[in-house]
Amino acid sequence: MIPQDFIQTLLDRVDIVDVVERYVPLKKAGANYQARCPFHNEKSPSFTVSPTKQFYHCFGCGAHGTAITFLMQHTGMGFVEAVKELASRTGMQVPDDGTRNNPEDGRREQLYELMETAAHFYKGELKNNAAAVAYLKNRGLTGEAAARYGLGYAPDDWQGLARAVADYQDKALEEAGLIIAGEGGKRYDRFRHRVMFPIKNERGKVIAFGGRVLDKGEPKYLNSPETPLFHKGRELYGLHEARRAIQSAGRVIVVEGYMDVVMLAQHGVENAVATLGTAVTSDQVERLLRLADAIVFAFDGDAAGRKAAWRALENSLPQVVDGKRLGFLFLPEGEDPDSYVRGHGRAAFEALLDKALPLSQFLLDEMATKTDLTSPEGKVRLVKLTEPYLDQMRKAPLLARSLRRQLASMSGMPSRAQARFTPGAPSVSIQKRGGQPSPYRVVLQALIQDPARVARLPEVLPNDASPEAQALTGLMARLRQQAGLRLTRHVVESYREQPEQTLMEEAEAAVLVWEETEHDVEADFRGALATLEEHAGRQAATDLSRKQLHELSPDERVRFLRSLQAKKLSVLASAGEGDGRGDSD
Ligand SMILES: [Zn+2]
Repeated sequence: MIPQDFIQTLLDRVDIVDVVERYVPLKKAGANYQARCPFHNEKSPSFTVSPTKQFYHCFGCGAHGTAITFLMQHTGMGFVEAVKELASRTGMQVPDDGTRNNPEDGRREQLYELMETAAHFYKGELKNNAAAVAYLKNRGLTGEAAARYGLGYAPDDWQGLARAVADYQDKALEEAGLIIAGEGGKRYDRFRHRVMFPIKNERGKVIAFGGRVLDKGEPKYLNSPETPLFHKGRELYGLHEARRAIQSAGRVIVVEGYMDVVMLAQHGVENAVATLGTAVTSDQVERLLRLADAIVFAFDGDAAGRKAAWRALENSLPQVVDGKRLGFLFLPEGEDPDSYVRGHGRAAFEALLDKALPLSQFLLDEMATKTDLTSPEGKVRLVKLTEPYLDQMRKAPLLARSLRRQLASMSGMPSRAQARFTPGAPSVSIQKRGGQPSPYRVVLQALIQDPARVARLPEVLPNDASPEAQALTGLMARLRQQAGLRLTRHVVESYREQPEQTLMEEAEAAVLVWEETEHDVEADFRGALATLEEHAGRQAATDLSRKQLHELSPDERVRFLRSLQAKKLSVLASAGEGDGRGDSD
């Protein structure tokens, strides 16, 4: 755990405008900066960055957070990694938490360097090897495409890497998965006589390799093992190179082979990535959905492709989000994306993508093939088989509901969930559509805008079970307990992955609008506060007046007196419009 106060200081030292601008060109628009959102596809800018409040919000897709969140969302870094990245830019040292300390970081750096050295070596070897060059040419690959993806060649030599590294005995070479230590201390290169595809992380650092045989050897593809740098269920081949194209297309294509990615890019389809010899994982889907509104999985049209597609569907279900599209494309028998784009060109391939089977259709089709819909038993079975899959679609309640409706009409029986309301947490909105915002909401926003206002709030608020009132009470308690929560950015950051996050994000977005319109927050705050105090006073008076004065505990007596006072103050406040304090309003 990185201490909260370190995070707060870090957020005070970095400027979110600088951080965002490295990836997204920003334009000044009034008090804020704007851009076309990097997280969804749009024509006019709704992505807004506040230089004073130090957070961003997209009015289109709801992307929202601090400089830390931005790095995480944009580069796919984890929280700790993003904090470290920002800290290193400001020259701050992330405090040692006792588990992950600096020697390990140094170790990782060393591994990154070794991978870079190896990639450089393999690349140089490719130029020297006529057979490898001929192989790639034969497959129709241009020099540009090979260079873009940093392709190389591992020589047919047991200790080829010894020519590239300082110390072939270094343990780190093993740890990086580059060499294998056999029995009797014999060490040799893992990759020999193979065309090498460097696998990079999202930041462009080489973390692993995929090596393909030139002739008929086995295995056809050999990948780096899992290492401290490389977790194959998380990374995607080609993501670093494809990022921009994915964002501008709003769509990502997931294929099965490295060669598919390289060949598609060569033909102008630059938004493709490949899994690393496994079925696509839930982690990978989540990552891709942060970058694009649509994913198309491309599979070979044979039985194996169908099976792989089903696994992809199963792993995707927990990540499907309403409003995003997942499609499944089955290529004609005997084709893969590589051969298809070579034979038919980009336009034909993209036409196929547009015809990809939507996830919902694929799911119901597959289920229907497993049952006999002509018998009542078969219909029951269809419902029984399908329900568990729909239950997993927690992030897509609307799609799940629509599928349940289709299921009901296919089976002729009401699905169990039709009677029930949509599962999953409905998003709670504290915005009162139409009418005036409630005083809780106004105070909540004013508090986000300037957390120092907490000092002016009463000890307790009126009893109110509404989500807005609960959120306000929660924020007040937080601000009183944690002295370090002084600024909007700290508040935004402190709600990361908290149950109230969605509600807070909405309120924070409204604050951004205030900033843009030079809204008189102070006047609203005072008004709302008076209303709340009056309300609390009335509540307390009602509660307490049911008791005799001598029945009251000392505590209750104080509250009772305070409530009377609050009542008086609010009367004074509303009568005091002309006392000069209102002149600045
Ligand atoms: Zn957006």
